[in-house]
Amino acid sequence: MDIVVLLKQVPDTEATIQIQEDGRTIKTQDIKWVINPYDEYAVEEALRIKESQGEGKVTILTVGHDRAVEAMRTALAMGADEGILIDDPAIDTFDGLGIARILAAAIYEISYDLIIAGMRAVDDDSYLVPTAVAEFLEIPSVSMVVRQEISDGKIRCERMVEGGTVVVEADLPAVFTTQKGINEPRYASLPGIMKAKKKKLEKKNLADIGLEAAQLSETGANTRVARLSFPPERQPGKMVEGETPEEKAAELVRLLREEAKVI
Ligand SMILES: Cc1cc2nc3c(=O)[nH]c(=O)nc-3n(C[C@H](O)[C@H](O)[C@H](O)COP(=O)(O)OP(=O)(O)OC[C@H]3O[C@@H](n4cnc5c(N)ncnc54)[C@H](O)[C@@H]3O)c2cc1C
Repeated sequence: MDIVVLLKQVPDTEATIQIQEDGRTIKTQDIKWVINPYDEYAVEEALRIKESQGEGKVTILTVGHDRAVEAMRTALAMGADEGILIDDPAIDTFDGLGIARILAAAIYEISYDLIIAGMRAVDDDSYLVPTAVAEFLEIPSVSMVVRQEISDGKIRCERMVEGGTVVVEADLPAVFTTQKGINEPRYASLPGIMKAKKKKLEKKNLADIGLEAAQLSETGANTRVARLSFPPERQPGKMVEGETPEEKAAELVRLLREEAKVI
């Protein structure tokens, strides 16, 4: 089975984020970049499917800049077979739908039976790219999967919903997105890291996959980031003074009445 994993490189969730002077983008220097955590589940699930079937190919597909190669090499070190990076100066101008159009155009040129993606990218949190890719490719899509089973050209997926589980079945080829709990991603081994250096990683631009930036900008940039801001800083907590519980309770009531003005 040939599987394509959609992998995005994102800032480490531990990274300190600073907003650029333009107020719409973040400062990217000094940030540690990692594989989007949900995409690690996607890589692991693809490898498990390939291993259980004893044949097939896992291709990592990324839209991003040159720095994304590091994340792709990590996926190759985990065991994926090859990678394709779509890099073009124009990609910064496209929103999630535009990125999905690019991914779909790149997938048209690859042989595939299954596409696996993360359910969300932890930086932009659009929750839309994989479903849009499925729509452009006119294939089924199942989101937030915690368990899957493939047989007779079909995939059965379990999705958790409030208070229960839904089992969804779809014909292959299909797209599904991974939810936390689906697996425990493996670490890349040292031999895996050495092998990954020699694995095929192709770099393409938009023209190479039959797209023109100008034509795509009409349909690939319907939304723009207008402003980025941090949540307001939390006020420091206040210790209620007093010798006895009664004194503390009286002081608390006074503060609620006179300072917080909530009673
Ligand atoms: C390098 C780069 C720079 C960008 N700069 C800007 C900018 O300056 N301003 C702006 O408005 N927009 C920018 N964008 C576009 C913006 O980040 C998109 O909204 C975003 O790619 C889609 O949203 P999401 O990643 O939150 O998708 P989600 O739908 O939350 O992602 C879910 C899943 O889709 C897959 N996926 C998502 N993106 C990619 C990808 N690029 N490659 C492979 N798989 C992917 C992953 O499997 C991911 O887990 C940029 C995108 C990239 C890649």
